[in-house]
Amino acid sequence: MSDVDGCELCSNPGGDVLWSDRRLRVVRVDDPDYPGFLRVIWQGHVREMGDLDRVHRSCLMDAVFAAERAVVELLRPDKVNLASLGNMTPHLHWHVIPRFRGDPHFPDPVWAARRGGRLVPLPMPVAAYGREVAASLAASLPASIDVRVPPAAA
Ligand SMILES: [Zn+2]
Repeated sequence: MSDVDGCELCSNPGGDVLWSDRRLRVVRVDDPDYPGFLRVIWQGHVREMGDLDRVHRSCLMDAVFAAERAVVELLRPDKVNLASLGNMTPHLHWHVIPRFRGDPHFPDPVWAARRGGRLVPLPMPVAAYGREVAASLAASLPASIDVRVPPAAA
């Protein structure tokens, strides 16, 4: 991971790391309103999805969909919100947010004003959730996305 002075996501993982390789990591975000919230973070500074080559873009989205699948299987949410904003950090990243009818912002985005609602707790201790997500990611992602990157032309 290239460390750049003043970059929060170079100096901190941004949550509990559940899967990682040289190119990307999946973390559980510590959000008291959304304890199942995951984030898929590209390790390097890349601004836009279109700046990644096709192979890396595909690897990143495979990780996003694997995280989505883990959330669906473990939490059975009413919806999973996938969002890539990236206005605050130079790291491409995707938010993977389990949503439930009646959660504090439903049906608005989690960044909107609160509508009331209630926290929907995890159906298991948070550490167990992290282990289950990690196991699901390990089962559906290769050990490293680097294995799928074609070698550079000679
Ligand atoms: Zn950085």
